[in-house]
Amino acid sequence: PIVKPIAINAFLDSVLSFMEGQAALHDIRFVRDYHTAEEEILFADAAQIKQVLFNILQNAVEASEPHQIVTLRTQKLGDNLLITISDQGSGICPENLTKVQNPFFTTKENGTGLGLSVSYRIINNHNGEITIDSRWGEGTDFNIQLPLTSNYK
Ligand code: ADP
Ligand code: MG
Repeated sequence: PIVKPIAINAFLDSVLSFMEGQAALHDIRFVRDYHTAEEEILFADAAQIKQVLFNILQNAVEASEPHQIVTLRTQKLGDNLLITISDQGSGICPENLTKVQNPFFTTKENGTGLGLSVSYRIINNHNGEITIDSRWGEGTDFNIQLPLTSNYK
């Protein structure tokens, strides 16, 4: 990764505003729930992290019904940043939960099945971790954990 300092909250705002128009077309609203300070910095590859957020937010919008919200929550956990993207959509059935990160796994008619496999690889390369907490029929949380201070592969 090309590591540079990223002002977390402003960076997330810019990703969300980039996607807000498309979400609005589906009548889906983004909610910001930041528990990180305005001056909090992440050292990471901004273009790659943007790609990850874009992929996961896109999936959240695609899984949602009109009038639902997608929440982007941030918090500091020790030396880690935790970004949680939550939707109130379809959820992921238990048997698919272990498959979603596989390249070309998709349940969509026109899906590529590449978004999550790329996202997992990027977060791994940043020494971070993605975990999923999904309730079938109720919604899904994608947790992206990234070290705030680290040396990268
Ligand atoms: P694609 O979006 O092209 O299908 P992805 O790699 O982005 O490929 O996602 C793989 C699969 O994971 C999706 O087809 C879908 O079944 C499941 N998935 C990912 N995110 C969500 C979500 N937020 N809610 C429900 N299912 C999801
Ligand atoms: Mg996708």
